[in-house]
Amino acid sequence: MRESAQALQLVAFDADDTLWLTEPGYSAAQEKLQQLLEPYVELDALAQAVYETEMRNMPLYGYGAKPFILSMIETAIELSAGEISARDVRRIIDIGRDMLNAPLSLLPGARETLERLAPAHNLILITKGDIFDQEGKLARSGLAGLFRAVEIVGEKDEATYARILARHGVEPGGFLMVGNSLRSDVLPVLAIGGRAVHIPYHITWLHETVDEARLPKDGYFTLENIGQLPELLEQEFGGG
Ligand SMILES: [Mg+2]
Repeated sequence: MRESAQALQLVAFDADDTLWLTEPGYSAAQEKLQQLLEPYVELDALAQAVYETEMRNMPLYGYGAKPFILSMIETAIELSAGEISARDVRRIIDIGRDMLNAPLSLLPGARETLERLAPAHNLILITKGDIFDQEGKLARSGLAGLFRAVEIVGEKDEATYARILARHGVEPGGFLMVGNSLRSDVLPVLAIGGRAVHIPYHITWLHETVDEARLPKDGYFTLENIGQLPELLEQEFGGG
C-alpha cells in the first residue's frame, strides 16, 4: 500500500478561478479604469497603484469585488490629485456594478468533475471574500447541491483550515484541498498536515503569487485542469 493512501474524509474546493472565472473580470475592470483615467494621469503605474491601495485597505475591507471597487475609486482620486469629476467616479462605480452583474462562467469540466466525485466523497467549498457576493455566485453556478457544506472565510490561512477541519471532525491527513492559489489553497493546507492539489489558472492575482523559494518540493499534486482530478484521486487514494 502506498504511503499516501490514507482514506480521504473531506475534499474541499476553492471557487474563484478553480470552479468559475474571476480574475478575467478584474483584469477587464482594470483596463476600463485605465481608459477612463487617460485624461488625468500617466498610466504606466496604474495597476500597481490600484494593487497598493487594495493592500492598504485589505485589513479593513477584506477580499472581493466591492473592496476592489472602492480601491479603484480611491486610486483614481489620488492619481488625479483630486481632479477626477463626479461623472467619472460614477463611471468607475458602473465598472464595478458590471463586474458584480457579469454572468458567471464555470471553468471547463468543473461541473462534470464535481458530479462524478460527489457520490463517493464528502465535497465542501472553501472560498474567501464577501458572503453576499460569494453566495450569489454559488447560487448562480448551479453547483451548490453538490457540496455538503460551504465555508466563506475572511482569510485562508492555517488557523482557518484547522478550524474548518475541527468543525467537520476530520484529521488533517484525511483532508484534501483543490485550488488555483499556492498561497491560499496549497501552502497553509500542507503546513497543517493536509494534502493539496494545485490547478493553476493562467492569470494569478499578484497577492496570490508565491516566491518559488517558499514552495515545498513535494507533498502536493499539480494538474493542468480539473477534469484530471477523478483519475488522480483514484490513483493516489483509491476508490471513487
Ligand atoms: Mg482561487
